[in-house]
Amino acid sequence: MNEQDLLKLDKQHIWHPYSAVGADMPMYAVERAEGVTIHLKNGRTLIDGMSSWWAALHGYNHPTLNRAAIDQLAKMSHIMFGGLTHDPAGELAQRLVKLLPQGLDKIFFADSGSVAVEVAMKMALQYQRAKGENTRCKFATIRAGYHGDTWHAMSVCDPITGMHGLFAQRLPLQYFLPQPKTAFDQSWNEDDIRPLRDLLAQKCGEIAGLILEPVVQGAGGMYFYSPTYLEKARELCDQYGVLLIFDEIATGFGRTGKLFATEYTRIKPDIMCLGKALTGGYMTLSATVTTERIAEMICQGEAKCFMHGPTFMGNPLACAVACASIDLLLASDWQNKVRRIEQQLKAELAPAASFRAVKEVRVLGAIGVLEMHEPVNIAQLQPKFVEKGIWLRPFGRLVYVMPPFIIEPAQLSTLTAGLLAVIKDVYNESSC
Ligand SMILES: *Cc1c(COP(=O)(O)O)cnc(C)c1O
Repeated sequence: MNEQDLLKLDKQHIWHPYSAVGADMPMYAVERAEGVTIHLKNGRTLIDGMSSWWAALHGYNHPTLNRAAIDQLAKMSHIMFGGLTHDPAGELAQRLVKLLPQGLDKIFFADSGSVAVEVAMKMALQYQRAKGENTRCKFATIRAGYHGDTWHAMSVCDPITGMHGLFAQRLPLQYFLPQPKTAFDQSWNEDDIRPLRDLLAQKCGEIAGLILEPVVQGAGGMYFYSPTYLEKARELCDQYGVLLIFDEIATGFGRTGKLFATEYTRIKPDIMCLGKALTGGYMTLSATVTTERIAEMICQGEAKCFMHGPTFMGNPLACAVACASIDLLLASDWQNKVRRIEQQLKAELAPAASFRAVKEVRVLGAIGVLEMHEPVNIAQLQPKFVEKGIWLRPFGRLVYVMPPFIIEPAQLSTLTAGLLAVIKDVYNESSC
């Protein structure tokens, strides 16, 4: 299809994430992508700074991942998971159990991150009910979180930055705690944990689980907080019989500098959600993992089983690519790559800290964030990034970079230089 026909059709008929059909927003037609390069239909090439939302760790069109998909296609792309099992699921389970914190070895494969969060919340409710804790129906979380777009996942997203304020009156009411003030590399301030301690002391009889994105909050604010918060939360959850759920859908598979953000702490959660980079960004797959103790309790309850089972559960094609992606990651020198990206982002984004429009510059692992004072005008910024040959997709007050780990230093410099030049141009920054 030629570019103009596609764009016309798209505008007429197709929704995009958080968009209006027919809106006059910039839209670009992609022909193909390879490595960290996105080839547009109009012949332009862009360096990818987004990893397609935390997912494409190894870049696009990777021969090893392609091979895994093709080999699996020749066997079967999908088969129902009720009463049947297969190598891709078994092999992925084997890999995950080895990589995840010890004891997290009961795995539920689902179709997307949001569903993994729904599954985690249902597990917590079924667990509490099986224990006879019938009044524990609510969840606690911290502000500025993001856990997905489905109904109960929305209920634990930040009521304001979580993009779901519109539905507030229709969502179950959960308990929101202040965002931990102690930033990632600051020394711990005990005041930070007081709101959680107070809440659990007063309301633990209503609370089934505490759900958090460990260390890095993603789409709700791109904020990095102290791992000590998580260790304190673990103690309180144990004390008050609340399950601790870590949503590692964005942070999993090396993005923060650790394989899982949980590894910044000495503790582990009761339930963990994985998604996004699980398949190296090839297709949609998620996993919710828990311990034997919790799985057994759930299955002793009145239902005698866990009550969820998506049609595309354990999709063989996705599982096969996930195995290949994990093998590729572990065989690569990913720690050094992420460390190198981190150092380069810190050095090259630092000048933005003196821009008047910029509130703060933050970098952790392969994530670089410019938090602006005011929400950005994406319709204005997007075409300017494209002119610079870079692909970035800011939202709210956040302009951020999270490239595939395979990005070369020169490509990363193109990204950061383009980003800073556009911000300078748009906000008339004189300092540098
Ligand atoms: C993206 C994301 C989700 C939702 O995943 P989807 O695959 O988009 O449904 C949930 N939690 C976190 C932390 C995420 O970043």
